[in-house]
Amino acid sequence: MLTHTLSPDRDPLGAMLTDYMDGQSDAFVRVDSSLLEMSEMTGDIMFRNQEEMNDLETVALSLCQGKILDVGAGSGCHSLALQAIGHDVTAMDISPGCLRVMERRGVEKRLFNSLFRLKEDRFNTLLMLMNGIGICGTIEGLNFFLQHIRGILAHGGQVLADSTDLSARYTNLALVPGQEEDYYGETEFTMAYEDIRGEPFEWLYIDYATLAFYAEFHGWRCEQVLKRSDGKFLARIY
Ligand code: SAH
Repeated sequence: MLTHTLSPDRDPLGAMLTDYMDGQSDAFVRVDSSLLEMSEMTGDIMFRNQEEMNDLETVALSLCQGKILDVGAGSGCHSLALQAIGHDVTAMDISPGCLRVMERRGVEKRLFNSLFRLKEDRFNTLLMLMNGIGICGTIEGLNFFLQHIRGILAHGGQVLADSTDLSARYTNLALVPGQEEDYYGETEFTMAYEDIRGEPFEWLYIDYATLAFYAEFHGWRCEQVLKRSDGKFLARIY
């Protein structure tokens, strides 16, 4: 759970997106994980347009209403789509590079802050996409998040967030629920781009039942809006 903003020299994603925007169309960030095989985040994927978005994202966008906070907005792809149809959306990110890229792309309302630092604002919708629950980092972070959003959501507000149940993808014994002390979807990532290496950060993948359990424990209602066979799902907490 990152509670602070990043400095430019520890912002690989922001640097990669800037280069992509400046014409380096094959730019990508290397992602090391304590749990999953190494992967890449490409500029192409981060800059996806509305036609390239998956069903979870499309449905989430259609459910957005009122004053919207795009949490961890990245290149601003969701904010731009919402802004284009007249929504009141604010794009928030901890990456200075992402903020700069979003400004250049025409995202009007931008916030350089961590979700966990935000206080006493009132949004009707918190939008958290691309395994957006991951920002919570751990189950402990998720518990903090579920209390913290009481101060950020307007009365009757909602969180629209996606995640992935990793047990639907991996049969590795270490990933079986209950076999490990830590929850099986808690992982740690490090991102790198050229010679810029970010600080390691925790990322949470969660199954829907566990998410609903904690949401309800904190007095929220939770529903699974969409569920895919690959373990990905879209949840609404309200
Ligand atoms: N939602 C975007 C980007 C996903 S990548 C999309 O779907 O394309 C996750 C983003 O969350 C990154 O840009 C990262 O900088 C940002 N982020 C991570 N922790 C954050 C936090 N605590 N508060 C706000 N943004 C955060």
